[in-house]
Amino acid sequence: MATTAAEDEQAGNRGEVRRPALSPSRASDFKQCPLLYRFRAVDRLPEVPTKAQLRGTLVHSVLERLFALPGPERLPARARELLAPAWSQLSDQRPEWAELFAGEGEEQVRSWLSSAEKLLDSYFALEDPRRLEPEACELHVEIELGSGVLLRGYVDRLDVAPTGEIRVVDYKTGAAPREIGEAKAMFQMKFYAVVLWRLRGIVPRQLKLMYLTDGQSLAYTPDEPELRRFERTLEAIWEAILRAGRTGDFRPNPGRLCDWCAHQARCPSFGGTPPPYPGWPEPDAGDETPLDRAD
Ligand code: SF4
Repeated sequence: MATTAAEDEQAGNRGEVRRPALSPSRASDFKQCPLLYRFRAVDRLPEVPTKAQLRGTLVHSVLERLFALPGPERLPARARELLAPAWSQLSDQRPEWAELFAGEGEEQVRSWLSSAEKLLDSYFALEDPRRLEPEACELHVEIELGSGVLLRGYVDRLDVAPTGEIRVVDYKTGAAPREIGEAKAMFQMKFYAVVLWRLRGIVPRQLKLMYLTDGQSLAYTPDEPELRRFERTLEAIWEAILRAGRTGDFRPNPGRLCDWCAHQARCPSFGGTPPPYPGWPEPDAGDETPLDRAD
């Protein structure tokens, strides 16, 4: 099944219940640190986004809007013009995000918006969007594997060539150094490759990561045996999550990424105490958020 992020949000607003599924962000959380997965997916503890995360969300939204324009209009100046209306819409939808700028003057907001302009400039240095006609942006994809494991996620952009070859594109706008996030990003891309392969019966020709913070891109070509193996890895992760979910045994696994964890104060590795285990959530466990989609 494939829908856009907007259609998905409408379904959520209508209160439609969805089956528990594995998303790339939550799978990656569990791999990194089971306790982080628990805090995010089971306790669902709120996390205040950083301005860098919000900027990433904003840039993703602008790039989506850019591709909705006719090809010849997809120019850097037009993209910059889209920043203010995109931020206005995002902050209307999530007033708590605008709170991050409470007490700051217009000058600070302008300077934050201009840091987003730099990411957009970096994007235009990597490719010319006038020459592309993506099949979809912010595409919600979902597939049930033969084992019954449900995979769900959002693809930043899907390019399909006239020959039918598929390219999965992901924009990276995060503040963490590229080498730290690279394995995580590749995990996410292989996740999407498995979903698209199972949905369409075609192994994507290319997985492309575009790092807008440092203006570099990384392309990778998966093959079917590799995706088969990766599918088994995802099934094993889901099994491990269900096992931990039954017992509440989500252990901390401290590492370099703890520097970016919002839950150190509750983490035993940092002298904290987690809240009592609330039990395995029904019916949904650990969906992606708009902030995840803009990491
Ligand atoms: S601080 Fe580190 S070990 Fe603790 S929950 Fe966060 S990621 Fe896990």
